[in-house]
Parts: sequence; structure tokens; C-alpha cells
Amino acid sequence: MAKIPLLKEVVKLIFSKPATIQYPREETPVEPDARGRQYADLSKCVGCSLCMIECPPKAIRMEKIPEGYEVPKRNARKIYPVVDYFKCIYCYRCVTVCPTKAYVVTNEYRLASDAPVNSRELSLSTLKKASQEPSQGEGVSKQ
Ligand code: SF4
Ligand code: SF4
Repeated sequence: MAKIPLLKEVVKLIFSKPATIQYPREETPVEPDARGRQYADLSKCVGCSLCMIECPPKAIRMEKIPEGYEVPKRNARKIYPVVDYFKCIYCYRCVTVCPTKAYVVTNEYRLASDAPVNSRELSLSTLKKASQEPSQGEGVSKQ
């Protein structure tokens, strides 16, 4: 007798929509304001290092801006923050403390990789190269 409710449940589940999605073949819905990877816009960054100092898991390191980029004069030391996305806990403390609102925030969360993943290329893409227009990085600044 107890088998009948169980059978009913099995039949119901066979014909119902799956509770899971076929990621990555299907897109995962993400809130527009979900905290994804962030990176510094170097046209705004002054190289103060405050974001690095305040980062709880020490996911940010300051690096020298490579030769061949037009660095704003206010960044006298020509340094910029590089975020290690594998160490980052996406608390956005860096975004909050930055005195020049230099961080660009995105809801990009797909960061799985065998190689280290960081913000270096995204940040450098915000600077003009010699005789080249700056390219626009991804994401929309919430500031
Ligand atoms: S979001 Fe938080 S953990 Fe990630 S780099 Fe910024 S301060 Fe560090
Ligand atoms: S806090 Fe802002 S201005 Fe200072 S180093 Fe970080 S991104 Fe640049």
C-alpha cells in the first residue's frame, strides 16, 4: 500500500522540470549588482595603495606600470593595484576606500582557470598606449 504514494511521486518527478540547470551550456542567472570581479581604472588611480592596505586577505599587490603606457601625472610613483581573483573574497572594501572611485565593478563571476587570474590586463586596458586610444573594459561602474 505504501508503494502507491511513492510511485506517484516518481511519476511526478519524471515529468517535472529539472531543478538544476545545464551549466555551462545554459547561462546561470546573476543579479546585476552581484559582486563579481573588479579592477582599477588607471586613468583615475593615483597609486595611493590604500586598497592594498585595506584588503583583508591581502589579495592586492601594487605593481609598476609597464613602459609604453601614458600614465596620468597624478600617479607620480606610476604604480597600480593588481587583484588576485583567487585570493579575493569580493568584500569590495577596495572599492569603498578608494579616494578617487577608481574601481570598476562587474558581476562577472566565471573565473575558474588553471592559470592565475588577476586584474592586470583589465586595468592596463584603461590606459592609453603610445599612439592608441584606450579600450573600454567590461562592466559598469556603480559609482
Ligand atoms: S574585494 Fe575585498 S578581498 Fe577582494 S581585493 Fe577588494 S578588498 Fe581585497
Ligand atoms: S585606492 Fe584607488 S587610487 Fe589608491 S591605489 Fe587603490 S585604486 Fe588606486
